Amino acid sequence: MIAYNVTGREMSMALSQVNERYENNICWNRFDRKEPPAHTSHTTITFTLKVVDSKKPGHALGVSHVMGLNWSQRRRLTSACWHVHGHFFEALFEINPSARIKSSWALELIIINEGNWEDCDRGSSLYPAMASECCDCGAPETLPKKVTRTRTFRRKIRS
Ligand SMILES: [Zn+2]
Repeated sequence: MIAYNVTGREMSMALSQVNERYENNICWNRFDRKEPPAHTSHTTITFTLKVVDSKKPGHALGVSHVMGLNWSQRRRLTSACWHVHGHFFEALFEINPSARIKSSWALELIIINEGNWEDCDRGSSLYPAMASECCDCGAPETLPKKVTRTRTFRRKIRS
């Protein structure tokens, strides 16, 4: 994921806000800062979010392609779930409304009023699994906005 037009401090503030919701279980997996051009203080930051403990809130579950494997047998991942990302983006936009995010989870750049909470299929045509279903964080009940669901597979993002 790449965040444009943000500072490292803004990213850290957004992470802190997300951690209030997920028991301090969210941290950076990757955080690479590209220094800004001389005329601006805004950097481009490549980042991914993961969980500290995959038994605690915010972890994603692996998409099972094995027929008959039930929900509770699905593998816990160290990557952060779809809801963590949605809440992170929301926090970031509150801190910096002009932030922009490029994510493989979204077809377009995610901006303050467009693209966040768009669900996508992470599974296959035989075993479809929406990104929002690949976790057990309990966040669906607390989603702040209506989730856009699409069963279409992701295409390459236009940059
Ligand atoms: Zn979740």
